[in-house]
Amino acid sequence: MQIPAAFEYARADSIDHALQLLAEHGPESRVIAGGHSLLPMMKLRLANPEWLIDINDLTDLEHITEDGDWLRVGALTRHVTLLESDIVAGHFPIVRDAEKTIADPLVRNRGTIGGSLCQADPAEDLSTVCHVLRAELVIRGPNGDRTVPMKELHRGPYETTVEPNEILTEIRWPIRARSSSAYTKVERRVGDWATAASGASVTMGSGGQIEDVTIGLTAVGLDGSTATRAQDAVRGQQPSEELYAEAGRLAAEDCNPVEDQRGTEAYKRHLADELTRRVLRKAVERLMSTAEAGS
Ligand SMILES: Cc1cc2nc3c(=O)[nH]c(=O)nc-3n(C[C@H](O)[C@H](O)[C@H](O)COP(=O)(O)OP(=O)(O)OC[C@H]3O[C@@H](n4cnc5c(N)ncnc54)[C@H](O)[C@@H]3O)c2cc1C
Repeated sequence: MQIPAAFEYARADSIDHALQLLAEHGPESRVIAGGHSLLPMMKLRLANPEWLIDINDLTDLEHITEDGDWLRVGALTRHVTLLESDIVAGHFPIVRDAEKTIADPLVRNRGTIGGSLCQADPAEDLSTVCHVLRAELVIRGPNGDRTVPMKELHRGPYETTVEPNEILTEIRWPIRARSSSAYTKVERRVGDWATAASGASVTMGSGGQIEDVTIGLTAVGLDGSTATRAQDAVRGQQPSEELYAEAGRLAAEDCNPVEDQRGTEAYKRHLADELTRRVLRKAVERLMSTAEAGS
């Protein structure tokens, strides 16, 4: 049995208290949320924090709030809450699509969106979702709040711009009219990490053209960020199968997958192509069916 190295433990009763504990115990302390990434890493001795600062009592970090043109989601919001939220699914169906594929009910009951983003695993599904939705992140530290766009959160695999004395408190998704989204993933078996996955968000113009689009890929070397050439090819065009095929081709060309136990480079590139076509098609179909239902 793998057991972690010895550590001390403190349970924060407010965000200020958590920040105070982080300041007191320094860079060898780590926040623990759901623990589904941190604890396995500690058992493998890939992470050896001297202090764990437990934020599970901070219920003010567990909210889903519609606020004007933004949906604000607390960093401690669990996967299961995101999966089941009709407000989230109504604005951003990509979230429910992704959550259905993340791990299993045990992990989804405890794992949090904040932990997912701060873990910065290149195969993390919610990172791609947040790139696609152009999320903004609110990070609190000793000098108050700062807001960073999703594309600035990750420095690289397992590395973020959240400093050791800071806490990610909120994820904000902009709500856009005439928009929809989708996510799809290939996994070796239910609950596994992605072999490859793709997500897209589209906004339609009044003439039926795709006015704006973001396309993100998971686990194929784009590190969850967006496929810019594919986006440029789609933006301003009328939706069609030929357009989805062109976007898929460009996304597959621009990613950089690595062969591993989940598949060869060629197979993953093929998935990037096919899954990109599917999410664009699905997001447009969703928009069309909402428009028909409203007419
Ligand atoms: C068997 C298994 C299968 C999984 N499959 C998938 C999958 O298919 N797809 C997928 O996307 N994920 C998967 N996961 C990961 C899962 O989504 C985790 O819940 C998630 O990665 C981490 O969330 P957590 O709340 O458990 O974070 P924790 O493990 O508590 O923390 C992870 C890291 O984030 C930091 N952190 C946490 N919260 C904050 C915060 N608010 N501010 C600053 N730092 C913070 C911690 O210090 C730590 O470094 C899987 C996990 C397991 C165990």
